[in-house]
Amino acid sequence: MIYFIILPYKNHHTIIRNFLKVNNIEIIQQLQELSHLSNRLDMQEAERNTITDAVTSYTNHFIAGLKHVKGFQQNELNSLAIDNKKKTIEELLSIYQKEVAENGINAASGTHLGYIPGGGVFTGAVADFIAAVTNPFASVYYASPGAAMVENEVVNWLKRVFSFPESATGCLSSGGSISTLIAFTAARDKHQVKNERVRKSVVYLSEQVHHSTQKALRIIGLEDVLIRYVPLDSHHRIQVDALEQLIAKDTAQGLIPFLIVATAGTTDTGAIDPLNDIADLAKKYHTWFHVDAAYGGFFILTSRKSLFKGIERADSMIVDPHKGMFLPYGVGAVLIKDISATLHSNYYEANYMQDAAEDELAKSPANLSPELTKHFRGLRVWLPLQYHGIEPFIACLEEKLLLVKYFRQQLQERGFWIGPEPDLSVSYFRYPFEKDADRKNQQLMNEIHADGDVFLSSSVIEGKFVIRIAILAFRTKKETVDRAVAMIERCLKKVK
Ligand SMILES: *Cc1c(COP(=O)(O)O)cnc(C)c1O
Repeated sequence: MIYFIILPYKNHHTIIRNFLKVNNIEIIQQLQELSHLSNRLDMQEAERNTITDAVTSYTNHFIAGLKHVKGFQQNELNSLAIDNKKKTIEELLSIYQKEVAENGINAASGTHLGYIPGGGVFTGAVADFIAAVTNPFASVYYASPGAAMVENEVVNWLKRVFSFPESATGCLSSGGSISTLIAFTAARDKHQVKNERVRKSVVYLSEQVHHSTQKALRIIGLEDVLIRYVPLDSHHRIQVDALEQLIAKDTAQGLIPFLIVATAGTTDTGAIDPLNDIADLAKKYHTWFHVDAAYGGFFILTSRKSLFKGIERADSMIVDPHKGMFLPYGVGAVLIKDISATLHSNYYEANYMQDAAEDELAKSPANLSPELTKHFRGLRVWLPLQYHGIEPFIACLEEKLLLVKYFRQQLQERGFWIGPEPDLSVSYFRYPFEKDADRKNQQLMNEIHADGDVFLSSSVIEGKFVIRIAILAFRTKKETVDRAVAMIERCLKKVK
């Protein structure tokens, strides 16, 4: 600008050239200064090694400590606010250990026996590390054919595990809730449940469905569908006769039976609905059949396989590798037979995506789920499976089935009332206090949480307060169950 003012009559081109030259020098100087700072993000090998060494030593220490750590504890939160002051990796790890890792439920330890336990298989963490460093764009086949293929091969493997046809589609999601959303959206679009059809469409559920089921219906605009809760048998499984009666009655009244949701491994009671019989009804009444196998699905690989008969006839199903494969949180999966319904909900052509449009649509995970850019989560299933093989996973699941049997025996011997024999690895119990049993079992639960050696959670089943045990963490062993039993006895003595 200055040049135009000082030298108004000089040759126009020279002025511009000089202007650009000086400006270029300034830009280059500024770039040099900036890159001094910005390079801190792209650190040198020596600094990377310092960090990974510190983290390796931290994680080794953390894992070694898991044998003794409490299942549940509470620390104050003081240092997590971001104050824009630099900290060393040691400082950060120490804050992390105290305020994150040692706070609340220790989901990496075997002592997590509440809700549905998690895992954190180490090779899954290593896969996440590699995925984040290399950062391929896994959502679009064209952008990263290898990464998209890793995800697709995980889906293909799941199709084989659950005997879904090769022609089925599917994708990985963050977990069961989003998987359910994807499956129900495909069901909705296949059955054209919109406008006035919404209020006439009927969804059949067990009272034991996970709440993410009703939540998904609400999110996808189906809040106003009719919901029928099907009576259950004494093992909390859907009664097929009762289901058929409901469907027949609805059909006779001009309503549209749209969706039946069965569960393979209920969250509260570990029950598997009679999938094959339900599949018959779904076929007879042209209803979409969905199976929620988020928690229980991988038990199909065990001696309980026969209980899953019929799952292969579902129109859609979900399963959570972050549960039954003991992987870190944030990986679920959905399988859907009707590929056009799935694409109808999720496939969009956009100008800025045109380079990708040539590829076969279903090879790109982005066309099958609401997500575009996402974490390359396929690697954390693929790598552990390829590294360990399937056997240790199956052994771990069989072990959990036996541990829950063992636990139930131990409690029964000690005078507890225990729930019906579960199909899988979730069970419940209560102490048969003569008076005020609900209140006193609640008190027992409070004592257990205060003790915290092993973490258990509670529920209300058939109107009664019960304490649940869910054995699914890969680090849960006989010793953990012995610790749980000792803790329960210790806590029972404090309840009056
Ligand atoms: C955990 C669970 C879900 C929900 O899955 P998230 O991964 O937590 O979103 C759904 N259904 C069942 C049976 C579950 O156990």
